[in-house]
Amino acid sequence: FKDNEYIEQLVKKLHEGGVNVVVGSLDEAINWGRSNSLWPLTFATSCCGIEFMSVGAARYDMARFGFEVARASPRQADFIMVAGTIVHKMAPVLKRLYDQMAEPKYVIAVGGCAVSGGPFKNSYHVLKGVEEILPVDVYIPGCPPRPEALLYGMMQLQRKLKVEKFFGGVNRQEKKPKDFDEE
Ligand code: SF4
Repeated sequence: FKDNEYIEQLVKKLHEGGVNVVVGSLDEAINWGRSNSLWPLTFATSCCGIEFMSVGAARYDMARFGFEVARASPRQADFIMVAGTIVHKMAPVLKRLYDQMAEPKYVIAVGGCAVSGGPFKNSYHVLKGVEEILPVDVYIPGCPPRPEALLYGMMQLQRKLKVEKFFGGVNRQEKKPKDFDEE
């Protein structure tokens, strides 16, 4: 048996023997746990970062929904909130931080700049969205998006996690990013 098959068989036997149990897959149990314990890596370069700070403060309080503490280390983070304008000079730094995060890892693009370059999309020095270098899971539009929009976007990430297959590896389709490290 694979791990989750074994548990499912065990639960079935207990159920047949008259023992009351809640039946569910191990994937569901694990995904329930990790979707309610997501730690963001903060990466704010400009104005949208202020909205993220607001989400972490007492009025909006992202900890209520399981996002708990924002981490300053990529080693301790489950997803990265890219908040702000990303210029070409900053792109290799962002990519390196993402590479240092442990799998499974996720990306939320916060605000017009991170989504598509925002008001600077015609500038020569700004990325036309972080999807040029990272695989984005959730896009939150706005300039800046309000804290409620950030919370809504973070909850969309939770929904995505809940339907993932954890065993056998979370299937992350890595986009081929521009190799900024070699430039
Ligand atoms: Fe600032 Fe607007 Fe860009 Fe957010 S989307 S970083 S508010 S210019």
